[in-house]
Amino acid sequence: MSNENEIKSCPACGGKGKIWTYSGGDCADYYSAGCSNCDLDSSHCDTEKEAIEAWNNQPAREADKARIAELEAKVQELNTTLNMYVADNIEVGQENQELKAKVQELSRIHESEIKELENETFELDELFQQINELQQENQELKTKLERVREEVDKGFQTSSSTYGLDHGVSVMEALSYIEEVLNDA
Ligand SMILES: [Zn+2]
Repeated sequence: MSNENEIKSCPACGGKGKIWTYSGGDCADYYSAGCSNCDLDSSHCDTEKEAIEAWNNQPAREADKARIAELEAKVQELNTTLNMYVADNIEVGQENQELKAKVQELSRIHESEIKELENETFELDELFQQINELQQENQELKTKLERVREEVDKGFQTSSSTYGLDHGVSVMEALSYIEEVLNDA
């Protein structure tokens, strides 16, 4: 068994390869290489070397071929699924990116709207302030006007009693009364 270490292990179970020698039977002597674990072996050969070569180079068994084809198909299928997931993921990523951009755009728009509203509020506050001031001024003017009327009435009564109703006060006198009152107020 000089060549036993050249024997490959069993392709079916992984068991250690072994040489079988048959002699002294009814037929001619022959060699065979096979598995020490299961019953897989090579064809009958005339020499030990041929048996080892036959064993080492044996074509893959049909069952193995079928299994390999099945596994290759499975790998193909998984690759397709994986590619689909990758594509989906890319798509989702793109959608996510687009949504993020939209959110940013919306917050930017809202931010400027908020600023505009704040400015408008500020302007409104100023307007209210001005209205208040004008109302106050208006009130003061009304008071002044009231006093002017009183003074003018008083002037008319005085001049009427002094000079009689026909004369009244002259326009110049009335104006000077008004000016005086306005300056005092
Ligand atoms: Zn085996």
